[in-house]
Amino acid sequence: MFNKKSKLAIIVPCYNEELVLQSTAETLLNVLDRIIKNGKISRDSYLYFVDDGSKDRTWSIITELHNTYGNRIKGAKFLRNFGNQKALIAGLLGAKNIGCDCAVTIDADLQQDENMIETFVDEFHKGAEIVSGIRNDRKTDTFFKKFTAICFYKLMNILGVKIPANHSDYRLVSYKALQILEKYSETGLFLRGFFHEIGLKTSYVHFDVKPRLAGKSKYNFFSLTSLALNGITAYSIVPLRIIAVMGVLTVLGSFILAAEVIFEKYFLHDTPSGWATLVVLLAFFGGVQIFCLGIMGEYLGQVFNEVKARPRYIKEEEIL
Ligand code: UDP
Ligand code: MG
Repeated sequence: MFNKKSKLAIIVPCYNEELVLQSTAETLLNVLDRIIKNGKISRDSYLYFVDDGSKDRTWSIITELHNTYGNRIKGAKFLRNFGNQKALIAGLLGAKNIGCDCAVTIDADLQQDENMIETFVDEFHKGAEIVSGIRNDRKTDTFFKKFTAICFYKLMNILGVKIPANHSDYRLVSYKALQILEKYSETGLFLRGFFHEIGLKTSYVHFDVKPRLAGKSKYNFFSLTSLALNGITAYSIVPLRIIAVMGVLTVLGSFILAAEVIFEKYFLHDTPSGWATLVVLLAFFGGVQIFCLGIMGEYLGQVFNEVKARPRYIKEEEIL
């Protein structure tokens, strides 16, 4: 479907990755070479490293790589650590500005099977605007990470963000997807939610996860929790809505309680005086208060959506 060969950018976020960077770059250059040889991408395809404020030799290695391999290796360096999602966004928007027809994001430790990039490109040529990598299993994850990941995807689904489980940030996106990404100015953008939500033609490719080559995982309990919370709150106002539902349920509960207490008072005659009124009023007004909070929540949800200033719609085509 493409007359000319597509230009591919491979984006690699790096945070303190001095131990793996050299070999990662060489492996990925080999991958590029193979896909170029197979005639699927253009010769000016490149690797784009985003140094997310590393404190080790990461940036000097990127600079050395650029000196050795010229413009096949490009890079950007953050002033401080902004987190993996920001590094990915910077890489994607950077690649859009530098120029590319499609871009793949992959981790610096190459835990994701880099040989699938060629399959991603094939899917892109078949017409997919987004090719999403899905992990085959979580063998390399700790029990804790496995468990929390399962809970996270289940919860996201319940809250209405229907991203597939075992989703990852290993994916290919087209130039068109990058143009849309540029329109989203919100700072806390959650890429997995974003690429799923925009509605471009997506295909899924399964890949195997390998153990980390060297170095440690950059995620701990707190950063994972923060990523998960960001994912949920950036894409769902259901938690706010739950408050209103809780309020209504409490009020309804107070009516049932009232019926029960009145029954006790007039038929069983064993309630101390004043108790019935107290309990019913307490439950009722408790419910009313929670319900009012829920109403506030609804407006807060509106403010939240407006503040994000997401594009109201995205036109696919137009005939004038
Ligand atoms: N990373 C980053 N900024 C951070 C943390 C991580 O750019 O603050 C990068 C990291 O260098 C790697 C990718 O994000 O390329 C995934 O991190 P890691 O492999 O440590 O995560 P895990 O595979 O354990 O989930
Ligand atoms: Mg990793």
